[in-house]
Amino acid sequence: MKAFVTGGAGFIGSHLVDKLLKRGDFVTSYDNLSSGNKEFFKHHKKNDKFRFVEADLLNLKQVEKEMKDHDVVFHIAANPFVRLGETQTKLDLEQGPIVSYNILESMRINDIKKIVFSSSSVVYGETPGIEIPENYGPTLPISLYGAGKLGAEGLISAFCGTFDFQAWIYRFANVVGIRGTHGVIIDFIAKLKKNPKELEILGDGRQQKPYLHVSDIVDGIIFGFENSNDQLNLFNLGCESNTTVTRIAELVVDEMNLRDVEFKYTGGIRGWAGDVPRFQLDINKIKKLGWKESNTSDEAVRKAIREVLNNQ
Ligand code: NAD
Repeated sequence: MKAFVTGGAGFIGSHLVDKLLKRGDFVTSYDNLSSGNKEFFKHHKKNDKFRFVEADLLNLKQVEKEMKDHDVVFHIAANPFVRLGETQTKLDLEQGPIVSYNILESMRINDIKKIVFSSSSVVYGETPGIEIPENYGPTLPISLYGAGKLGAEGLISAFCGTFDFQAWIYRFANVVGIRGTHGVIIDFIAKLKKNPKELEILGDGRQQKPYLHVSDIVDGIIFGFENSNDQLNLFNLGCESNTTVTRIAELVVDEMNLRDVEFKYTGGIRGWAGDVPRFQLDINKIKKLGWKESNTSDEAVRKAIREVLNNQ
């Protein structure tokens, strides 16, 4: 299989590239390195099944040219920072629907029919304390990032309906692990390295979310792709447990061997405007196909903390 991976130099994308190459697939990784890193794929430089294109997905003509002769597109690129929407209101429109349109249109022109997309649980918006199944609605996101993801999902569905595309859309839980570039674990480690006596925690610390290790997410992406064959295959990809923000702080303190750290909460139920403070994904649909995460949420968090610390 010849795979075209957008965002292949990023955190999740680079693990996906590793996995595809390990399977024996040909991979073109297309990334503008805005939040990606050349270090994440330097081990493939001599692999003649791997090609890296440093370019922007906003450049439709270039996407169209580089995508020629591929069998499937894994669209993983996006602005990964949910909070940026507070100050850069156009960003998620460009990096969500507009970039996704460029990809879908390039696929149409190149007669490529299969797309795999990394969406997010944030498309569900604020939900009433239930395990959210894929058919939950209405989907009303509360962040511009979430709106961008939902817009991209809509376009993918429309290209399936209009041009006979086949799609796999995954709504991810929070993803953690080595090569992670942002998020609560990285934030806490950086703060504690600066001041090992005190830790500022955004919100009241009771925000509670499922955390999935990056090895599990990549495994789930490929599993769903290989084992479902509807025209539009929509899956939540998360784990059955979850972790509070205070628990993450405790795990970071423990792994850094610190004592008597004072937790200082900024207060309020959410970390920032647009943050969904508590949610749990219903993952029965992908479980019924035979996939299951190999780490609980707490295990994924602890593993990721160790990986990040060992890598610094
Ligand atoms: P990341 O920032 O590490 O990866 C995104 C990659 O896309 C980067 O390498 C970046 O350089 C590239 N990119 C961004 N805009 C581009 C553009 N215009 N042209 C070319 N390349 C571009 O982020 P990640 O955490 O690996 O996220 C990967 C995907 O998973 C994203 O779509 C993100 O929204 C989604 N997701 C992530 C999480 C998570 O917890 N990390 C949760 C839900 C969904």
